Amino acid sequence: MEKRAELYAGKAKTVYLTDDPDFLILHFRDDTSAFDGQRIEQLARKGLVNNHFNAFIMGKLRDAGIPVHFEKLLSNNEAQVKKLDMIPVECVVRNIAAGSLCRRLGVTEGIELNPPTFELFLKNDALHDPMINESHVETFGWAKAEHMAQMKALTYKVNDVLKKLFLDGGMLLVDYKLEFGLFKDQVVLGDEFSPDGCRLWDAETRKKLDKDRFRQGLGGVVEAYEEVATRLGMQLPA
Ligand code: ADP
Ligand code: UDP
Repeated sequence: MEKRAELYAGKAKTVYLTDDPDFLILHFRDDTSAFDGQRIEQLARKGLVNNHFNAFIMGKLRDAGIPVHFEKLLSNNEAQVKKLDMIPVECVVRNIAAGSLCRRLGVTEGIELNPPTFELFLKNDALHDPMINESHVETFGWAKAEHMAQMKALTYKVNDVLKKLFLDGGMLLVDYKLEFGLFKDQVVLGDEFSPDGCRLWDAETRKKLDKDRFRQGLGGVVEAYEEVATRLGMQLPA
């Protein structure tokens, strides 16, 4: 498979076409953004870490029967993925209150959410990713009702698999965001699963091991991502 023209440069990844119309190459850059892209910094090794991290997690999800776009690692910063028609809706599950839930509802950070919440946001930086609901998704044609139902079921299934995986590494999966797309009319998990798009806390001390370290200026961002990877048993290249 050969790399062709750049299709799209996002805030953290660049997407390339290939000579096969079914596949794309995702290039994970070191760029780290927060606040809808208003703050961007380069953090050494972040692209490498997230690319390998995502490959590891996507492998676990595929093993659990979840359809994923990830095909294979091509290099430290690149992965081959299925070319999806992305659905512009972010699916968020929360096991513990944090972030925008606390800001929106005045809930105390850290309380357990039982059952976990499921939320939808429109992927639109100009509108600051507004919260939406399933009726908006159907009315505005962002996804068919049947596909929305599959996205929701798959997002919960990811929770069952990953909550346990992280807990086995002494971490709490606080919340996470997933993006899906269609491949030959099938709903498939796209984009990435990495500490850039989820919250992970040490189970004992509740130390933050995710992108909140960047958002909140806590430092040690990539070091924390590497600690998570090590705790999951991954061996990252030097
Ligand atoms: P953002 O667009 O949020 O700034 P990124 O920098 O991560 O995010 O850019 C990656 C872009 O590629 C996103 O728009 C994402 O929706 C899209 N994408 C991810 N996986 C696929 C895929 N398999 N097929 C097509 N597009 C994808
Ligand atoms: N998230 C993300 N991209 C977004 C918005 C949220 O990856 O554009 C992730 C975020 O990292 C967290 C979860 O989704 O793990 C819930 O985010 P929240 O709504 O709390 O927003 P935030 O406080 O991060 O702005």
